[in-house]
Amino acid sequence: MLSVRDAQSIILDLVRPFDPQTDIETVDLSSCGDRLLATPLSANADFPYWDNSAMDGYAVRYQDVSGASPDRPLPLQIVTEIAAGTTPQTAIAPGQAARIFTGAMMPPGADTVVMQEQTRRTGDRVEILASPAEKGDFVRLAGSFYRAGTSLLPAGVRLGAADVALLAIAQCSRVPVYRRPRVAILSTGNELVPPGTPLQAGQLVDSNQYALATAVTAAGAIPLLSGIVPDRPDALKQAIARTLEQADLVLSTGGVSVGDYDYVEQILEELGGQIHVKSVAVKPGKPLTVADFSAETDRPNRLYFGLPGNPVSALVTFWRFVRPALKKLAGERQGWGPTFLTARSRHELKGAGRRETYLWGKLHPVSGGYEFELSQGSHSSGNLINLAQTTALAVVEVDRGPIAPGELVSVMLV
Ligand code: AMP
Ligand code: MG
Repeated sequence: MLSVRDAQSIILDLVRPFDPQTDIETVDLSSCGDRLLATPLSANADFPYWDNSAMDGYAVRYQDVSGASPDRPLPLQIVTEIAAGTTPQTAIAPGQAARIFTGAMMPPGADTVVMQEQTRRTGDRVEILASPAEKGDFVRLAGSFYRAGTSLLPAGVRLGAADVALLAIAQCSRVPVYRRPRVAILSTGNELVPPGTPLQAGQLVDSNQYALATAVTAAGAIPLLSGIVPDRPDALKQAIARTLEQADLVLSTGGVSVGDYDYVEQILEELGGQIHVKSVAVKPGKPLTVADFSAETDRPNRLYFGLPGNPVSALVTFWRFVRPALKKLAGERQGWGPTFLTARSRHELKGAGRRETYLWGKLHPVSGGYEFELSQGSHSSGNLINLAQTTALAVVEVDRGPIAPGELVSVMLV
């Protein structure tokens, strides 16, 4: 049985990230948010493009107004007015000023802006009532934020609102992003029926396919709901072979335990998969199977995750092991692993001895940090009611004794 840490590094080592040449698509700036940039972005021009005013006020020559004060106002003649988006036509000579607005180009001759709150206007004259702190005050100089050719964003970053603003001013109206990974999802089990089906005795509604599809979408990938497969080797073999053709990554749930009807591992081997993970010292989720098919196909990415069938185990192993793999595959440059932080537990937390234990609940921000609230009720891996609305999993390390209420615990965000 592998430790969680070893399993994670084996899995991440198996993942070949998307190719920045071929695994890309170009999307409009308006729909690139939350996608992964596939090509580094550099500046096409200096920014600001032109010297411009950072305030509504008056563009002046510093030497004309230095030393002004309310007791010693310095008068200037207004010779022109410059609105944002226009090109100044008049140069500012000694003793003169231009009325100017935020974002408007500085006129030739002026080097400083005085905000209008520090002036008094009468007709075409303005009195400056305060001395600028220094020459250049409230002027945004061309190229002062960055120069043409400056690297703005590296490849592999997820584009947020601020990044999209940067793309816009860099004139990048069509954005190269990595394509979304396609993730096939199979549910295995003779007992399973789709939601909405009247149940015969012994049957169970398939929840995993829908839970995982939601988790896959949340991770920025495209779920391919690939159906329920009975526990029959021929049917499983066909379904697995088909999904390996269609997807970058295949997830199945069920059939990876030690029961008589658990065929997944055997079939992965028959299909030529290299099995790298068979079980992990984790609770929930011990029977996790990971196979690599890239040698069997000409495509570099062909990973198969056989997740446990229990609904809680399936989701916890997705969050802990599959999502980091998906992030790496998708081209994300770093930070593939889950985000952990430290919280004070509100409840007693008990681990499972030799297995790293993940207990589900909610994280609450409190003054000075976070608190973890354990979901109440049975922590059986078949119990979905108390998994609902989970925001975090508390991690009880191998062989750590019970964590008392008030103690600090490592918490993984989901
Ligand atoms: P297995 O790993 O196939 O032995 O399944 C473990 C448990 O999870 C059994 O109780 C199954 O009925 C249940 N289970 C398996 N697959 C699903 C599924 N897709 N949705 C909900 N429960 C499932
Ligand atoms: Mg089963």
